[in-house]
Amino acid sequence: NGHVGVGLGKAAEVPEAIRKGIEDAKKNMITVSLKGTTIPHEVIGVFGAGKVLLKPAAQGTGIIAGGKVRAVLEAAGISNIRAKCLRSNNPTNVVKATMAGLAQLRSAEEEKLLKLWEGLGYYSRVRNMQQAAIQVMEQYGGVIPGEYEELLKLKGIGSYTAGAIASIAFGQKVPAVDGNVLRVLARYCMDDALITDVRHKQRVEQELGDTMSQKRPGDFNQAMMELGAMVCVPNGKPHCEECPLQKLCQAHQNHCETDYPKKKSKKERSIEKRTVLIIQDAGKAALRKRPAKGLLAGMYE
Ligand code: SF4
Repeated sequence: NGHVGVGLGKAAEVPEAIRKGIEDAKKNMITVSLKGTTIPHEVIGVFGAGKVLLKPAAQGTGIIAGGKVRAVLEAAGISNIRAKCLRSNNPTNVVKATMAGLAQLRSAEEEKLLKLWEGLGYYSRVRNMQQAAIQVMEQYGGVIPGEYEELLKLKGIGSYTAGAIASIAFGQKVPAVDGNVLRVLARYCMDDALITDVRHKQRVEQELGDTMSQKRPGDFNQAMMELGAMVCVPNGKPHCEECPLQKLCQAHQNHCETDYPKKKSKKERSIEKRTVLIIQDAGKAALRKRPAKGLLAGMYE
């Protein structure tokens, strides 16, 4: 039923922040029981012959979240969850759970997956998940590769996700650079490069890859992500008084935190005008399926 027993030490050691997050999140999350305390977890990826990577929900960011994800996985036959914690004494660590059923995800009907994904947006994600499941089953013998370069070959996995999986799940020394990390570093270095410039991101990935923690690359990447999500926040003033980098951060020392990162001015939104015809007969309405590519691909209208 999605409840997973994990021996992680005493319930009293569970941080208060996680306890607070439980009430808000538990309706929609896969939950993990920690000796009497129930911790909701987001599913942040499906990888491996039936492996799923979970992350404590109260910790902040996640790639995808909520009961819809769980419903999608369960509909695909992935419900027999057995979990083991990567480290036995820290409940905030990523939990690697073993699940049966990557094969079922491969063969699940797309219509069913899309219906279950309804409301989450980014429908390409669930299609990509299924495509990646097919690739893993057919090209990797049902075992998710642990190497960054191989992960990049899976549908829907870019450098950030590949870096996150390779470092957190497989302990590889590769960076996971998302917008949060770029923002922290832009402020830390007072870097004038445009944050949206692909070459800038590649340079940051290269430099971080050379200098990041050798011993704990997954923790390093998560720390950077969390710093960006919780402390060096994007909208409004960052919480520099709580930041472990404040003494070294150039933007903070120069009182210009909100001048970074540099961005291009936003394009004005274009407004498209459409005529909508509703064809009705005897209380029924005609529906048609949109093309497989483009806006709202595969949806009904
Ligand atoms: Fe961001 Fe402030 Fe920390 Fe600098 S000191 S990294 S601006 S939160």
